[in-house]
Amino acid sequence: MTSEKKAGQDTLLRQVVSQLCALAGTSSPELASALASIDAAAKDEHSDAPLRLASSRLAALTTQGSRPLRPLKPASSAPGAGPASDGESAAVIQGVLRNLTIPTTLEPLARDIQRALDKPGSGARRDLVNQTLHLMAEAKAHAEQRQRELQDFLKATVGRLIQLEGAVTQVQTATRSGQDELAQGRELTQAQFIHLRSITTETDDLEQLKSFIGDRLEHLQGHLTQQDAVGDEQQRRLEETLSALSAQVNQLNAETIILRSRLDVTTEEALRDPLTGAYNRLAYERRAALEVARWRSDGGNLSMVVCDIDYFKRINDGFGHAAGDKVLKEVVRLLQEQLRSSDFVARYGGEEFVVLLNGAAEDAALQIAEKLRRTVKAAPFRSRGERVPVTISCGVGTFSGEDTLEAVFERTDAALYAAKAQGRDRCVSAVSQAA
Ligand code: GH3
Ligand code: MG
Ligand code: MG
Repeated sequence: MTSEKKAGQDTLLRQVVSQLCALAGTSSPELASALASIDAAAKDEHSDAPLRLASSRLAALTTQGSRPLRPLKPASSAPGAGPASDGESAAVIQGVLRNLTIPTTLEPLARDIQRALDKPGSGARRDLVNQTLHLMAEAKAHAEQRQRELQDFLKATVGRLIQLEGAVTQVQTATRSGQDELAQGRELTQAQFIHLRSITTETDDLEQLKSFIGDRLEHLQGHLTQQDAVGDEQQRRLEETLSALSAQVNQLNAETIILRSRLDVTTEEALRDPLTGAYNRLAYERRAALEVARWRSDGGNLSMVVCDIDYFKRINDGFGHAAGDKVLKEVVRLLQEQLRSSDFVARYGGEEFVVLLNGAAEDAALQIAEKLRRTVKAAPFRSRGERVPVTISCGVGTFSGEDTLEAVFERTDAALYAAKAQGRDRCVSAVSQAA
């Protein structure tokens, strides 16, 4: 039922009640009061309960009162007439019957009233008034009940549609291609919802409406479930791919770590002398390149010491090769022990070592070389219970001007040669050598 139609009925109901009250109002004060409450109750748009109550009061009064009015029962002949003319009352009641939407359950009562009106010379106006009031109250209650049912049903329907909408939105997050299909699905949902709304406003038959909406929703639900399945399948495949990729990445990471550590070990091994554990010539070349680059960019001091064990051949010859190896290892340990962590020592080859002194000027480098020489000389080397005398000679060189690594090494080596030439177990500065 449209709200317009309902409002029309309400207005008509109020008009009729007012007229009926006017017709019967003069009968008695009690009756006037009962009719006044019916009039007021009829104006209550929220509930028909007051109207029913007032109607019952009126019915009771009309049966108990001096005037033999009939209660709310299907019409039968009853005596009595109101102050208004019969024709006027009949016209009002006819109007009610014509305009009122009469529920199936009240149709017998409406027919009875109509028959009574059709009866020529019928004087049962009060009886007809009561019956008509009852009919109107029941029709109003029925209409309102239907309206409530319809509203509840529509509310539930909207709830279901919101759920479906939620399902659509969820699936939408699946994949791009999935979204295309879902956009179609959304259009369908919206179109059907619009149709649904128009149906609910145009259809009066609630049962028919319910079955129509039910069918549409089932259809929609099926459609969306299908889409859910499509979305789920795509989502599943996407997740599988991602999980496979993730596993591959993890595997790759693990392999990279192993490879890198192996590479580190290999690199480290490649830079170390296996006998003494000291850095080798390759390590020296790399480190020296870095130190020279840093010296060039930052300035400061950089010096080099080249040491060589004196008469090492004799040690080998006198105490054996193993004793010679032992001496090499011990010399490395002593050199490392005397140097700072920022210094660098490598076994350049044979029994020759090269030291890089970061931050040391020529004087300081010479002092350090002296310290190294004294330390080795003082160390108690022994073999087969005998003391093995071990000394080193050192050349000292310092970077300056446009020096290259090769130039400094050459100078320093020349200084070492000079130290050897001067009798060994001594340190010679390349600067003094040049002077
Ligand atoms: P100089 O004072 O002039 O340096 O005399 P030197 O005997 O130390 O020099 P030379 O070059 O004549 O002899 C070096 C010896 O060092 C020869 C070689 O057998 C020995 N040598 C080189 N590497 C090793 C090594 O790894 N272990 C041992 N035990 N000896 C080595
Ligand atoms: Mg030597
Ligand atoms: Mg040598």
